[in-house]
Amino acid sequence: MAMIAGNLDRVRARIAAACDAARRDPAGVTLLAVSKTAAADAVACALACGQHCFGENYVQEAVAKILALRERTDGLAPARTAIEWHCIGPIQSNKTRLVAEHFDWVQTIAQLRIAERLSAQRPVGSAPLQVCLQVNIDGGANKAGIAADEAEALAREVAALPHLQLRGLMTIPEPAPDFASQRAVHERARALFERIASGGGRGFERFDTLSMGMTADLEAAIHAGSTMVRVGTGIFGARG
Ligand SMILES: *Cc1c(COP(=O)(O)O)cnc(C)c1O
Repeated sequence: MAMIAGNLDRVRARIAAACDAARRDPAGVTLLAVSKTAAADAVACALACGQHCFGENYVQEAVAKILALRERTDGLAPARTAIEWHCIGPIQSNKTRLVAEHFDWVQTIAQLRIAERLSAQRPVGSAPLQVCLQVNIDGGANKAGIAADEAEALAREVAALPHLQLRGLMTIPEPAPDFASQRAVHERARALFERIASGGGRGFERFDTLSMGMTADLEAAIHAGSTMVRVGTGIFGARG
């Protein structure tokens, strides 16, 4: 578990250095710890190191972990135990209820039908579900996400749903070999993000999140304007 503490320090240092190089305020980049396949113990360890945002891909695995963490942190001071859970995996329509009930964010909205179900199934009394559209920014075949030229229309429809809060865009580009090519793809996402944000209007008041960059390319993503990097192996080690 000491490994996780050291890894978190290294990832935070990478983010700080990238912000410095890009002349950006590090407060403008959120670190999402991607804990898919990691044990609840590992999440608890990262939490103890001050990491509060976690991303999960598989709904069933995530819900078990969310409940386990809630049990462990019951009775401790809220400031030390508050976790924000982000769903970053594909969502089948038979899983929307679990997602609406247990997550704080969903970053993988690519179909209106799924967004409508999440809105309808968000429990009464819960804060609106915070959502990002997943955009297939490099047109990768067989990849989840809406095409870039269809993103704005979907954003308008999602922004109108009552129990969702539209927060921005998320991308997972194909791995690219070097900084320049990584950055070029991330710049395209940034341009799309700014174009949609500048349209503004009702439901776009908090359109402020550009989720891009992972362990291998977080520096390029931060240079291109990422506001949230999603790091798995860099924190929890290689997935088995
Ligand atoms: C697994 C995953 C990550 C983290 O990837 P690493 O390369 O382990 O940092 C980020 N985003 C999504 C959507 C993922 O599925």
